Amino acid sequence: MNKKIFILGGGQSALYAAREIRKNNIDVEITILGDEKFIPYERPPLSKDFLLNKRIDEDLYFCSKETLEEEKINYLNTIIIKVDFENNILISEDNKQYTYDTLLISTGSKNRKLNINSEVDDEIFYLRNLEEAKNIKEKALGKKNILIIGGGFIGLEIASSFSQLNKNISLVEVGNQLMGRIIPNQIADLVKQFHEDEGNKIILNKTISEITKINEKYKILLNDNTEIISDLIIAGIGSIPNVGLFENTKLKLDNGIVTNEFCETNIKNVFASGDVSNFYHPLYGKYMRLESYQHAQNHGISAGKNISGIKTEYSSIPWMWSDQFNLNLQLTGICDDYDEIVERGKNIDEGIIYFFLKNKNIKGACGLGIAGKVGRDIRITTKLTEKNTIVDSSILSDQSQKLNKLIQK
Ligand code: NAP
Repeated sequence: MNKKIFILGGGQSALYAAREIRKNNIDVEITILGDEKFIPYERPPLSKDFLLNKRIDEDLYFCSKETLEEEKINYLNTIIIKVDFENNILISEDNKQYTYDTLLISTGSKNRKLNINSEVDDEIFYLRNLEEAKNIKEKALGKKNILIIGGGFIGLEIASSFSQLNKNISLVEVGNQLMGRIIPNQIADLVKQFHEDEGNKIILNKTISEITKINEKYKILLNDNTEIISDLIIAGIGSIPNVGLFENTKLKLDNGIVTNEFCETNIKNVFASGDVSNFYHPLYGKYMRLESYQHAQNHGISAGKNISGIKTEYSSIPWMWSDQFNLNLQLTGICDDYDEIVERGKNIDEGIIYFFLKNKNIKGACGLGIAGKVGRDIRITTKLTEKNTIVDSSILSDQSQKLNKLIQK
């Protein structure tokens, strides 16, 4: 058969798709085209253990080069500049052409950038990939005062890491709560308090009006005229799907690449997975785009199965976590559509979880606790959501009662 399968994008979703395809097909040619010089690696440690010097580059790869070779998965470091969907051809910056039978697009997302002024824009650091993490780590050496712009996951995880390295942190967030994109305000407020107790200065509802460079320092003026002096500026102000290559093509785009529950796009034999895909979720009955580790992986696996001809509906319950200081935050499901909120636990030492219910079904839950305290309950909650179980709120709210009581046999 010797069918040619190309995967555009060299991240987690791409790798998991490739390995799944190989598991199901011994005779296809699989090539991942990645724009980084590294084979696929884990991103979550970049803002945590990597900055804290607890893990180095070599610890981050999902698998070794030898494993990829054994599994006959080619990894090419190249930049694709054009996709010709009419003739199934990918064209690279160095003018090579790759003809595919099947294409999986897993191009991920890219950093949203600030536009303050040309003198300083290039001196603001972002952290998405290994190269950027290395750069930030090096630049932070010997610097004491760090300004972080954006109070999402990246901003807070970097704030936690550098605070543990005894830096002075100021963090400016435009919204009226931290992690406002997906985390309920009850948990966000607890995270804010924790950072403040650790000495981090968290400033909500503010934007940057001006940044001027004076000698080797930056003077930052906020929109309420507050001034901050900093030695280093890092921004984590969100991501946008990486779809530049597909604008003005026949690939359907709408907040990413539109795919159905089988990772199929509107073009035959073209699939998409991971951050870049705005996919139909059959359980929630709507389209969504998720930017998380678990999703990148499971969506890649699902794409791999569908590409292999094993028709598989993707209906994973979204799940993500964030580690900041010794805190572990976990989110399962979606917390934006509910008619009841139930609180479990009173302090983060024992773990606190907020459940968001609609018609007595848990639609989402978010928990925060000292590492190890909320994981088990969140895992059980995911099962309850998957099965659409009618739950008894009095058990949810009583930490002395085990949640697995609610699982229907
Ligand atoms: P994010 O979670 O979307 O948070 C960015 C925050 O910055 C938002 O609250 C955003 O507000 C705010 N913001 C935007 N423009 C701003 C400005 N000019 N000044 C101040 N604040 C501003 O994105 P992120 O933290 O940059 O992370 C990037 C991606 O990596 C996300 O997909 C994230 O989920 C992922 N990530 C995940 C983890 C994890 O799972 N633990 C860890 C790190 C990164 P608006 O929403 O109003 O724009």
